[in-house]
Amino acid sequence: MSLSSLRETEIELKRVEEQLKNIVPVLSFVRRRDARAHLLKLRIDLRSEERFCVFCGSRVTEENIGALIETEDDVKLVCNKRECLAEVDILRPLFTSSKS
Ligand SMILES: [Zn+2]
Repeated sequence: MSLSSLRETEIELKRVEEQLKNIVPVLSFVRRRDARAHLLKLRIDLRSEERFCVFCGSRVTEENIGALIETEDDVKLVCNKRECLAEVDILRPLFTSSKS
């Protein structure tokens, strides 16, 4: 392997690591009421704010919120479409032990 391709591999690995660090816990809600309370704690009020699903781009409201992904400096919302929640399920197993 040449020196430059080794370097490229290293850079690529760093990039993937960075992305993984950004996704901390994924939380699915059983009850809408819990979702609202939790979102308000994170200073997100879906009644007055427009937020969009990170996967499909649809507007996320208290009626269709499916999950949220908390990162160090942001919270990403996911709607409750089956395809979008499936994406979350792919992410979740990677981070189950990150927080207690
Ligand atoms: Zn979606």
